[in-house]
Amino acid sequence: MCFRPTEMQMKKCPKCGANNKPIATECAQCGEPLEQMKVDFDADQAKLDAFATMPPIPSAPATPKAPGAPVPPSIPKPPSA
Ligand SMILES: [Zn+2]
Repeated sequence: MCFRPTEMQMKKCPKCGANNKPIATECAQCGEPLEQMKVDFDADQAKLDAFATMPPIPSAPATPKAPGAPVPPSIPKPPSA
């Protein structure tokens, strides 16, 4: 996997272009208010929550089997005598 969290997490100031911490609400360099990434974070978290709370998916569609398969009516053997 090619995962570069640094690029995703750093907040780039739209004004001066300085990289700020993801939790920064304003640019540490020039004080420009930064967009909150809370929405994206919540969306991701919601996805994770949904995944975590999802019921386990059965690997195969369970075919309803009656407990104790009904034995087919067998014709009683005629006494061989
Ligand atoms: Zn700035």
